[in-house]
Amino acid sequence: MQYDYEIAIVGAGAAGYTAAIYAGRSGASVVVFDKGMGGGLAVEAPKIENYPGFKSITGIELMEKMKEHAIEYAQIKFGEEVKEIKVMEEGVEILTNKDKYFVGAVIICTGSKHRKLGVKGEEEFAGKGISYCATCDGFFFKGKKVAVVGGGNSAVIEAIYLKQIGCEVYVIHRRDELRAEEALEKEAKEKGVKFIWNSIVKEIIGKEKVEAVKIRNVKTGEEKILEIDGIFISIGEEPQNEIAKKAGVKIDENGYIIVDEMGRTNLERVFAAGDVTGGVRQIITACAEGAKAALAAMKIIGKRSPF
Ligand code: NAP
Repeated sequence: MQYDYEIAIVGAGAAGYTAAIYAGRSGASVVVFDKGMGGGLAVEAPKIENYPGFKSITGIELMEKMKEHAIEYAQIKFGEEVKEIKVMEEGVEILTNKDKYFVGAVIICTGSKHRKLGVKGEEEFAGKGISYCATCDGFFFKGKKVAVVGGGNSAVIEAIYLKQIGCEVYVIHRRDELRAEEALEKEAKEKGVKFIWNSIVKEIIGKEKVEAVKIRNVKTGEEKILEIDGIFISIGEEPQNEIAKKAGVKIDENGYIIVDEMGRTNLERVFAAGDVTGGVRQIITACAEGAKAALAAMKIIGKRSPF
């Protein structure tokens, strides 16, 4: 069969880059599409200390290294967004905002996007005191009073980062116990991050930009106003599953693509890896999933593969 590329990978994050390296090294011609500049959400991590081989590295540095590695084995098309994939008997048609391609198999590594609070003021003050990434925007709030919403690893890491750059930091969490690792909680408390427990944000308030948040205590029903200069919303992520859904790939009740242990979906020529498939959502596991999906995909394009 005459393919433009044997394997197409959608998304240049940890899963996508690793899939590209494995597919390329297995002898396939590979293209990777990314609607932006690649790296995925990992580029937002101020510090990564659990990726083997690197005691401490920033997300940007680690993803840059992965990109340099993947470029050896694949053509990477940044700024090219995959709009639709059409699965056919002999291959998969990929429609992007720029062109059309015919490939043997596709590996969906589209990752996830930041979940929104969905409260009054969130849309209005987007980019005017509301951020979803402390590493990206924290600089603008140096020395100011900020709130971080959420109780997971990301929220606590962001709070520590903001404290380190001189902010007065309040973490607003809807329960009285964090989801984040204990070590992070300890570090945050030691560094002086303050916690507002059992509380949800009802409204983000301001004139030209964010000036305060209205918080409601879910136990007592009490509402109060906390004056702040900025708010960092860190309440988890949602899978970017749009192209998969449209193509008929099965997803679970939380929107994650359903895969087997080798990244196979319900469609023969479609594989998936990384955060878009849920699971533990770590950089290292996204890499492992990308590798497995690439190896499994070899069979479908007629390459030697034990998987
Ligand atoms: P997460 O673990 O899903 O945590 C989301 C937090 O936001 C939870 O505390 C949740 O509260 C809260 N939340 C969710 N929806 C909310 C809403 N509508 N209003 C208020 N609060 C809400 O997300 P994450 O911290 O972004 O992490 C995502 C994944 O990446 C996780 O698997 C995490 O372990 C991983 N990660 C790992 C590291 C690392 O260094 N190992 C660093 C960052 C992220 P509840 O707790 O009440 O549900």
